[in-house]
Amino acid sequence: MTVDRPADLVLLGGRIATMDPARSWATAVAIRDGRIVVVGDDAAARPLVGPRTRVIELRGRTVTPGFGDAHVHPVHGGLARLRCELHGSRGQETYLAIVAAYAAGHPDEPWIHGSGWQMDDFPGGVPGKAALDRIAPDRPVFLQSRDGHSAWVNSRALELAGVTSGTPDPVDGRIDRDSDGGPVGGLQEGAMDLVARLVPATTEDELVEALRLGQAELHSLGITNWQDAIVTPDMEEVAYTRLAGRGELTGRVIGALWWERARGADQIDELVERRLRTAVGRYAPTSVKIMQDGVLENFTGAVLEPYLGPDGRPTANRGLSQVNPEALKGYVSRIDALGFQPHFHAIGERAVREALDAVEAARWANGVTDTRPHIAHIQVVHPADVTRFRRLGVVANAQPYWACHEGQMDNLTIPFLGPERAGWQYPFRTLRAAGASLAMGSDWSVSTANPLLEMEVAVNRVSDLSRGEQPPFLPDERIELVDALAAFTAGTAWVNHLDRDLGSLEVGKTGDLVVLDRDLFDRDAGEIGEARVVGTFIDGIPVFEDAALEG
Ligand SMILES: [Zn+2]
Repeated sequence: MTVDRPADLVLLGGRIATMDPARSWATAVAIRDGRIVVVGDDAAARPLVGPRTRVIELRGRTVTPGFGDAHVHPVHGGLARLRCELHGSRGQETYLAIVAAYAAGHPDEPWIHGSGWQMDDFPGGVPGKAALDRIAPDRPVFLQSRDGHSAWVNSRALELAGVTSGTPDPVDGRIDRDSDGGPVGGLQEGAMDLVARLVPATTEDELVEALRLGQAELHSLGITNWQDAIVTPDMEEVAYTRLAGRGELTGRVIGALWWERARGADQIDELVERRLRTAVGRYAPTSVKIMQDGVLENFTGAVLEPYLGPDGRPTANRGLSQVNPEALKGYVSRIDALGFQPHFHAIGERAVREALDAVEAARWANGVTDTRPHIAHIQVVHPADVTRFRRLGVVANAQPYWACHEGQMDNLTIPFLGPERAGWQYPFRTLRAAGASLAMGSDWSVSTANPLLEMEVAVNRVSDLSRGEQPPFLPDERIELVDALAAFTAGTAWVNHLDRDLGSLEVGKTGDLVVLDRDLFDRDAGEIGEARVVGTFIDGIPVFEDAALEG
């Protein structure tokens, strides 16, 4: 060995979870020219401290690889901040107070546009126009739900859109109606477009500002790489290409190009063209996002057996397959052959099966490729499908924050699935035991972007909002903290095709890491989600730090 040049950054005295294949631990790491040159004990790293080396004394705090988020919408998260933001608030009265304050504070905006309400804050999950009409009788209001699958609108918005009792439901959605068939103010899935198309378009500057805010939020939570789960040409693509074009995209981003379900294979040439034309800096649009169903709470999730009604008897409704499952096989085979990664949204057990069937068809057509297909959400997995994830090489992309008892689960989901099927939800341990690769993500702005809060639910199946109050949700499906951490590091790096460079702290990999304020694995130090990120580094360069990092 030659005498090494000094490192740029040396961290000493920590509990460093390297997340290498052995899950080994170290106390020190050194980074030079953006890459890790030492992982080991303090004695191995100290010789690399030179006069200009930044040295951080960890004093027993945990360092992990930079977190990844396998399914997130940072532009939406940022836009929500710029608009009428209901995320993080609860209850109809609170929502109305926020809308009223926003309306008063933005008298010149032609529309009141916002997002973040939760279905279970309304009777039957359906919001009403009347309450909004009292606040905004003359101005149209369009408020998307937290999960983006429903909208709450006022009478003025319905009037401008021409939605009346005579308006038929679109094929991919539903207008919530009263007994006379008149619209009540809730629009589900594709029915949102009836009003959404009238809302003034977001400007390019707003999109870039939104991504800047979203990126800062993710970095502050330790996230260094992510997969943007919906990239459309006039929204996210604008934000990424502009920010990355200026060299200001610090996160490493895989873009999942939105599959337009109203179209067919004719859009594939455009996807190929956009993959070539819009890749810039740290942005690579190499995935295709196929939304195969809706969500269970509004009965648009695709299920094998019908939903139950309020009386506990089966209804006629099995939800919606957004893409015809036979056609899906052909599309997925084509995009897989072209080297795109299929990224499915699948909530109900039929949608999960249809996605797996499509990958199976692609495997028959193309053999085993390295596109690493993944199914996001995987809320209900039929037991017969569990082993197919490993056999087909499909990554289970879980959003663990939802795997707990809360209103939406207890009031709007379990009663309508029935007891047996309700027990098939979020089967993380079962999938792991069957050899599935697990990656995790937040789906922010649907729910918090904080991986530590999400890991807490993966481990405890109780959310931070009901610690000590709720029993664990399906406790047999709890996983170990080290496995949850792996899903947010090695797992996300794998699904993002970044595993050669990151996902673990090993010599030669990039200096992407997170410093926490404590020993994450010491339960006497508090709950997992109480831990805080005090420093986030990409290529050894801080993209977020607070005073406690050096303190
Ligand atoms: Zn999503």
